[in-house]
Amino acid sequence: MKIDRIVLASGNAGKLAELSALLAPLGVAVQAQAALGVTEAEEPHCTFIENALVKARRASRLTGLPAIADDSGLCVDALGGRPGVLSARWASAGGNDSIDTDRAERDRANNARLVQELAGVRDRRAHFYCVLVLLRAADDPQPIVADASWAGEVIDVARGAGGFGYDPHLLIPSLGRTVAELDAATKNRLSHRGRATRALIERLREAGAIG
Ligand code: IMP
Repeated sequence: MKIDRIVLASGNAGKLAELSALLAPLGVAVQAQAALGVTEAEEPHCTFIENALVKARRASRLTGLPAIADDSGLCVDALGGRPGVLSARWASAGGNDSIDTDRAERDRANNARLVQELAGVRDRRAHFYCVLVLLRAADDPQPIVADASWAGEVIDVARGAGGFGYDPHLLIPSLGRTVAELDAATKNRLSHRGRATRALIERLREAGAIG
């Protein structure tokens, strides 16, 4: 089955723009779930893959279209992989988790918690992780899955103004820069999300789902 229209199970305009730019030349139109009346899903699971699957399945069930979803976050070795699936709302996890909190404010609070939890810890290894899931239908028994990681080291003092989230605190040792010090094209080339997205497109080609 060839896919020509797909719903993105996310309200993130940046993700929509990135995916559309990659898939439009291949004859696949990407639509945001909100434009089709689908609200943001809960992410109740403790693994990225389960959360991505739940989001994609729900969007596909409610729209009748193939659906794509991603889940991503920062995993810190010395913290046993935390914040992991809680990355977006770590600082407020278990507390007053207001979904309306300004994103920049949430990022600041999350980064403050990261620095605080690693105070006195020498092992600074951490990686961003992203998994993408595509379902051709809500009951698709063979989801197409692609993932990627991007390893670095957590630093205490933020550097750089680009990107979002934990970018100013993740140093990529081979580049001598934090992710927030990279331009957008370089980040997209190297990042967990960029590489997972390109891998997913490759899998779709192999599966004969796109031209
Ligand atoms: P998601 O949109 O539910 O996947 O949220 C992922 C969260 O993980 C974001 O809100 C960030 O806190 C963090 N995260 C994921 N990818 C990145 C990245 O590329 N840079 C910085 N933080 C990231």
